[in-house]
Amino acid sequence: MANVTLEGVRKNFGATEVIRGVDLTIEDGEFVVFVGPSGCGKSTLLRLIAGLEDLTGGDVLIGDRNVSGEAPADRGIAMVFQSYALYPHMTVRQNMGFGLKLAKTDKAEVDRRVNAAAEVLTITDLLDRKPKQLSGGQRQRVAIGRAIVREPQVFLFDEPLSNLDAALRVRMRYEFARLHGELKTTMIYVTHDQVEAMTLADRIVVLSAGRIEQVGAPMDLYEHPDNLFVAGFIGSPR
Ligand code: ADP
Ligand code: MG
Repeated sequence: MANVTLEGVRKNFGATEVIRGVDLTIEDGEFVVFVGPSGCGKSTLLRLIAGLEDLTGGDVLIGDRNVSGEAPADRGIAMVFQSYALYPHMTVRQNMGFGLKLAKTDKAEVDRRVNAAAEVLTITDLLDRKPKQLSGGQRQRVAIGRAIVREPQVFLFDEPLSNLDAALRVRMRYEFARLHGELKTTMIYVTHDQVEAMTLADRIVVLSAGRIEQVGAPMDLYEHPDNLFVAGFIGSPR
């Protein structure tokens, strides 16, 4: 577990400033949700934290460590995307263990971690199946399982439920709450679904055009939005 600190984080793509100075401290074990309109920079910010994009300016710290120059694999972070391609020819167990196997983790340890993650995700009975024998929600659990087995200090989720149908999304929302309750790991979660944000977040970060508009607990934002933009996103229905 670790806190995550963003200090003056900036990102340009060519001449376009996409992230325009973000300062934020996420506490150890906190569940923080990023919301904001499409194109405001949510995914880019996650990718900067993960090290999948280079910073144009500022720093990213994980715990006390400045990881700005570190490769993604060294950061102790695992990221789950909205499209979660599983290897079709591998079983669930193989899909979950593959990354660890590549990292030369010994087999007994791979088995131990896969079994433990499967238990947390209640997919133990699916370990010998192939992806095509799974439902959408089960596949998403396997994708999360691949992240859990790495035992990261921080989880990043980029709209992990947006490819699922509405009913399944509601069910999986509770799974994330339960997962956080069990693992107690720092989680940063991107969504454009207000209800998801309100239900899951310890704090919500509202982003607009590469900047933070407001940060607060869900009820704080709901009852005391700083401006109309935040109100439109989170505020009480009028
Ligand atoms: P969000 O996830 O909030 O929808 P993104 O972080 O994906 O937003 O994108 C923010 C902005 O950066 C958008 O205008 C997008 O077109 C642009 N962008 C994202 N990735 C790249 C890239 N690799 N090259 C150029 N522009 C990009
Ligand atoms: Mg995005």
